[in-house]
Amino acid sequence: MPQHCKSYNNYFGQFGGRYVAEVLRTPLDLLEEEFSAAMSDDRFWREFDTIGVQFVGRPTPLLFAENSSAALGGAQLYIKMEGLAHTGAHKINNAVGQALLARRMGKKRIIAETGAGQHGVATAAVCAKLGLECRVYMGEIDIRRQKPNVFWMQMYGAEVVPVASGSRTLKDAVNEALRDWAESFPDTHYLIGSALGPSPYPDMVREFQSVVGRETRQQTEALGLDVAALVACVGGGSNAIGFFAPYLEQAQPRLVGVEAGGTGDDPGRHAARMGGLGEPGIVQGYKSLFLLDEDGQVQPTHSISAGLDYPGIGPQLASLGASGRVEFRRARDQQALEAVRQFARNEGVVFALESAHGGAVALEIAAELQPHQAVVVNMSGRGDKDLFIMAGELDRAAWREFLLSEGDRL
Ligand SMILES: *Cc1c(COP(=O)(O)O)cnc(C)c1O
Repeated sequence: MPQHCKSYNNYFGQFGGRYVAEVLRTPLDLLEEEFSAAMSDDRFWREFDTIGVQFVGRPTPLLFAENSSAALGGAQLYIKMEGLAHTGAHKINNAVGQALLARRMGKKRIIAETGAGQHGVATAAVCAKLGLECRVYMGEIDIRRQKPNVFWMQMYGAEVVPVASGSRTLKDAVNEALRDWAESFPDTHYLIGSALGPSPYPDMVREFQSVVGRETRQQTEALGLDVAALVACVGGGSNAIGFFAPYLEQAQPRLVGVEAGGTGDDPGRHAARMGGLGEPGIVQGYKSLFLLDEDGQVQPTHSISAGLDYPGIGPQLASLGASGRVEFRRARDQQALEAVRQFARNEGVVFALESAHGGAVALEIAAELQPHQAVVVNMSGRGDKDLFIMAGELDRAAWREFLLSEGDRL
């Protein structure tokens, strides 16, 4: 079994593992056992698929970006429209899978961490659907920055708990969730939002997100496309690894992960861990590549897209980068914004800022290829959630006036 395809002894090459306090060993062992039983249980997958169709809106379409392709004169560009999934992004696939697993284990309560709030919203919606109690830990600063998502989580009946420790952002929310879980695991599942964390989370999240890759494979085969490259943005890495999963054991197509290049390569100005900027480390329960300072502490990161603004990368993608099966590129903030604008005007589709990093690089790659070839980019999310950031960047004066008048009205 190739090392990069399935974790062996909980590792992907040198990355992965399970570096946790003693008290979390038992819940992780039990989780691994149940996960592995569920993977070969047809009933489990039938339920996952039914909720996928009825609640998530699967399969998501594969759109031919006809106008962009004609303008480029290179490969035919296709967009996997994952952003049309319920709650606006791929995160719901993993939330459904893990919540079903929790229910199978007889758990009544779900806890989750969230940074920008997208994972929190997906989790809250799924818990409402499945009748599970839901508590979401969120840094105080993120709560202030991401008010609309806090509102939606509460609308779905979740309790949003402000975290006041440390930098009051995502990493502190993870620590708080782990503390909760250490005391509550007999009736509680910790639903991690990306393909990272201690084993078995990276495997579990990949399996639930690989529905994106399986559909893409069926859709491109049905059209008879000669797929030369798949492109996806990489935060923690869940949409990318799910998109790439069916192709990992073959040499083609090219698999391209796009990280947040931010405003430059200096520390603090980006969130790119690959290409020599990250270093091996062990953070929050797993070994991978992280952005660290000279003392080995996690560095601050920057990206215009909250979902890519994270110092670590999932261990399987770190390993696939080391083996060369996945190529990594960067897109800067301004390139992502420009890609949002281009796809909106040319295709009538608004990418999430995260996904637009992949969109920007997909346009470059398609331009270098031939018309008989195809490139598919995963639009991991739609851009509705980014209204405040995009309008602030692209139409600042008018947007400011609108916000002020809204404030006056209240
Ligand atoms: C959260 C998020 C991401 C980044 O997470 P991954 O685990 O790397 O996929 C990317 N796109 C969107 C739309 C997101 O909400």
